[in-house]
Amino acid sequence: MLVMAAEQRAGAAPNTVLLQVRELVLQYKTPGHLVTATWNVGFDVCRGDRFVLLGPSGCGKSSILKAVAGFLKPAAGSIRLDGKPIIGPGPDRLVVFQEFEQLLPWKTTRENVLFPMRVTRRFGALEMEERADNVIDKVGLQRFADAFPHTLSGGMKMRVAIARALAMEPAILLMDEPFAALDALTRRKMQEDLLKLCEQTSLTMLFVTHSIEEAILLGSRILVLSPHPGRVRAELNAHQFAFADLDTPEFATLQRRITDMLFQDTSGVRR
Ligand code: ADP
Ligand code: MG
Repeated sequence: MLVMAAEQRAGAAPNTVLLQVRELVLQYKTPGHLVTATWNVGFDVCRGDRFVLLGPSGCGKSSILKAVAGFLKPAAGSIRLDGKPIIGPGPDRLVVFQEFEQLLPWKTTRENVLFPMRVTRRFGALEMEERADNVIDKVGLQRFADAFPHTLSGGMKMRVAIARALAMEPAILLMDEPFAALDALTRRKMQEDLLKLCEQTSLTMLFVTHSIEEAILLGSRILVLSPHPGRVRAELNAHQFAFADLDTPEFATLQRRITDMLFQDTSGVRR
């Protein structure tokens, strides 16, 4: 069922714009002052893109994700999904966070995956069960379907969170530094598995990271943001890179280019 839907989606004109962000200004009003998180940020995410927002801590990456998810109202600019303005949260845009505590601790893997489907009543009883089994299988947790979160490793909890989002089949999956708190080996494995998942399901993903390496490995496109407040420095293609290219001069060159972009001030002088 899930696979069929994914195939239909894959057939549904890739390279058409799914998410359109224009001149986005995000601000927080705190007592005494106004914090500007992003300034005039614009980009297009096409169907099937693995679109990465890359920038240093505090440049507004999470704020952009929150705005796309519908939790934060833009001070100016617009966000459209499939041509329709985003006015609040919805099951077509689900977020996977870095925190391991995003799961319900009193529910098993399977119950955690079923939970949003039950709450939103988007699918019939049988379909929910099918979807849960299918995504648990996809993220490799069949043997842990009845395990509780506290018995799972950080990487496994992250898989449950991803499975739970995938089961809802969102139009776009929003990921906020999901692997940042994992150890290096687990992180690499999760990155590889996420790429495989993207290939299998032709998922559209908006992925936030401050790691240049992660951005190049995972992204098909990378939006490079300036330090606070976040502005667009550049938009790059990273289609051509895979894990096997990590040690190549081309990979190092792109990494260097992005480092330079990130740490140049507006006068072009490297700090
Ligand atoms: P990033 O995810 O790139 O690290 P954030 O989007 O979390 O950046 O934050 C961007 C800016 O907005 C930072 O200066 C941060 O301090 C500020 N900010 C984020 N959330 C809030 C909030 N709830 N209230 C006030 N300021 C905030
Ligand atoms: Mg953040």
